[in-house]
Amino acid sequence: MLIALRGLLGYRPDQTGFIVILETHLEIAMTGRICNVQRNKDRCGCTYPGCSRQGYCCDCIHYHWKHKELPGCLFPEDAEKTYDRSLKYFIEVWSKKLGKK
Ligand code: SF4
Repeated sequence: MLIALRGLLGYRPDQTGFIVILETHLEIAMTGRICNVQRNKDRCGCTYPGCSRQGYCCDCIHYHWKHKELPGCLFPEDAEKTYDRSLKYFIEVWSKKLGKK
């Protein structure tokens, strides 16, 4: 869809800002939703410093799942601080917390 839109508008690299605004408006019109990036950042439990994905939950999930990991916000607070986002650690930590191990 976005590629088709770019083709239709004769997209040039120097028009990035304009295209992003247009795409955002188009997405809002189509879905009735906008990204809650500031609200996501305010309630994000991840303490990893300087991450560019913080608040962009879809990118965060995509990034970690690509590595068979999960986002920091799904880990208990003390486990989150280890920065081990692996599925193995997630299962281990929650199994202990829930008394399954
Ligand atoms: S969980 Fe990972 S991708 Fe998400 S904000 Fe934290 S460090 Fe960034």
